[in-house]
Amino acid sequence: MANKLVPKPFWLRKKITPTLDKQMEILFDKAGVNTVCQEAMCPNISECFAHNQATFLIMGTACTRNCSFCAVSKGTPMPLNSNEPQNIAKAVKQLDLKYVVITSSTRDDLSDGGAEHFCKTVSAIKAVDNSITVELLIPDMKENKEALEKISKSGACIIGHNLETVPRLYEVRKGAQYERSLRVLNILSSFNSSIATKSGIMLGLGEEDNEVINLMEDLLYVGCKYLSIGQYLAPSFKHTEVVEYVNQEKFEYFKDIGMKMGFKYIKSSPYTRSSYMAHEYLEGT
Ligand code: SF4
Repeated sequence: MANKLVPKPFWLRKKITPTLDKQMEILFDKAGVNTVCQEAMCPNISECFAHNQATFLIMGTACTRNCSFCAVSKGTPMPLNSNEPQNIAKAVKQLDLKYVVITSSTRDDLSDGGAEHFCKTVSAIKAVDNSITVELLIPDMKENKEALEKISKSGACIIGHNLETVPRLYEVRKGAQYERSLRVLNILSSFNSSIATKSGIMLGLGEEDNEVINLMEDLLYVGCKYLSIGQYLAPSFKHTEVVEYVNQEKFEYFKDIGMKMGFKYIKSSPYTRSSYMAHEYLEGT
């Protein structure tokens, strides 16, 4: 067992390239767009930016929930920026992206959870080039069926909603419910069977192996065949402590089990995040 006061193991020391990161920051600032790479202080930022990969964070940088593992700031969200879909589309064009991931904080203050804004953003990107693949990573939208139907028909081909952890540890995800998140995934594919659904979890919060395997069974039961598994890293001393730095063999172990259980693609490694090398999921199947 370890906690955040224990030095990270060698496999969790990733290099950053400040000059490149700064260049990308300036580009995003000029375009008037936010990325979750920056807001969530993602450890993969230099690697992803070097490959022209980024995950756009729409609808502002403040979240209406208070998950104790998450670096995105909590607070009163800003009104929606009607220019944002176009701004994202312009940044996509400028970077010549062929695969785009769009996410948002949880917007419980909006009646549709932000579904319409997600859809407008997909449409703006598709208007640049219809062949661009768009992936959405959405909050639970309080299981609003109308909102989820819109999302499922937005033109995105893969839609993610993260379970984050096993049900016993859901106190780190205040305002969320494990069963509801499963239903969200189920509803998405029931409205549009041609989309793929994806989920993501973190290890190192104190989960047991059998709980992770049960979670994988639950995901398959609701038709979710794509999964990301990564190591939880505490963004600050105020956040939930890391219980364990899980070794790389354990990540491989869950990947092997999951693939045998019926997943189409699992990315599982300490640095895996839901949007990390996101283009590989559909390519890999
Ligand atoms: S893993 Fe995702 S959030 Fe992290 S830097 Fe890469 S694209 Fe951004």
